[in-house]
Amino acid sequence: MKWHALLLSLSVGCALSTAHAVQPQTSSGAEATTLQRPAPAANAPVYIVTSRDSYDRSGLKSFLTGPTSHRDSTGNELVLAETRADQLPKLSETIHETERRCGGYFAFATKDEAMEFLRSDRSLQAMNAAAAIAYTIDNQATVTPWLSQVGEPNIRNTISYLSTTYTNRYYSTTKGRNAALWIRDTWQGLINGRSDASVALFTGCTDCSTQPSVILTITGTELPNEIVVLGGHLDSISSTGSGENMNAPGADDDASGIAVLTEVLRVAMASGYKPKRTVQFMAYAAEEVGLRGSKAVANAYKNDGKNVVGMLQLDMTDYNRAGGYDIHVVTDYSSATLVQFLKDLFNAYMGSSGLTLGTEACGYACSDHASWTNAGYPAARYVEGPRTPNMHTPNDTLVNLG
Ligand code: ZN
Repeated sequence: MKWHALLLSLSVGCALSTAHAVQPQTSSGAEATTLQRPAPAANAPVYIVTSRDSYDRSGLKSFLTGPTSHRDSTGNELVLAETRADQLPKLSETIHETERRCGGYFAFATKDEAMEFLRSDRSLQAMNAAAAIAYTIDNQATVTPWLSQVGEPNIRNTISYLSTTYTNRYYSTTKGRNAALWIRDTWQGLINGRSDASVALFTGCTDCSTQPSVILTITGTELPNEIVVLGGHLDSISSTGSGENMNAPGADDDASGIAVLTEVLRVAMASGYKPKRTVQFMAYAAEEVGLRGSKAVANAYKNDGKNVVGMLQLDMTDYNRAGGYDIHVVTDYSSATLVQFLKDLFNAYMGSSGLTLGTEACGYACSDHASWTNAGYPAARYVEGPRTPNMHTPNDTLVNLG
């Protein structure tokens, strides 16, 4: 009875239903049964939704066929078109070279899925809704001692390990899968057997190949059904090499975001943190090929009626060599109230640090927060100010950060 109750509380706390094929952590850390599909054939069709600007002006159209015009709920003009699986790194390279950013599109295995995505878009609602909860900044007693515990070497070591051991985290590769398992095991070690915390692989993404997302849950003590999501993406991409031989260290993009999440988790666990709301740390699969992992998770949560009251994306957080602001808050496809909250948070807790905060629009589908926005949830993103010039290349390594 006791164990059943424990398992029930763990699965409820995990806030994931078995309908979405979440695999429990195995005690040995060994690879759980693979439920996902193998790598797609090079010529497998992929349907993408991108902005009219990226399609026309940034030149994505040279890789796309059969375009049709659409608008999302915000009025932004979009293009739905077809490409092939082996063209995706070229799409990313094109977006990077012309717009100096990552992401740029959502990807789908079928045209029907893409059409349903467009039909059910809730971005406008998510961006303009009043705050889901009252955001107040009154947690100095927790934050101040935590800040002094954050260890730069820990962040550096995680970036170094991910970018040199898993030098290719492309979603359909062996290292891309093993990196996810390493993150799961690392996070499992940090929660150190706490009964109110658990880690699971999310394998409900049907076009993420063998790469799972990783979800860590700390069940809230007072409002467990209200969920706060902190995320980054675990995959990487490069236009140099392909498949298992891709050279994609992805130190900044986005080992850095995973490293920050991991250090926050370490400090929180070391401090015996028990959040009032449920907090979930997420490392997403397949961001670089159309935000697939986060889209699958966000849609599963929407279909299950889960109440995500705020989502923060950390994607590219470590480059700091050029001038400008140290940190940006992303303003497009983000919740306006959450954007303001992120500014207020920075000013309250980091305002005297000497670091500076600016804002930017990062473009259509620029990172995983856009998946949550599309699903109708309040989401936002912090990102480094001046962007690394080495994104999506073999030079996205620790030595080239700052
Ligand atoms: Zn990224």
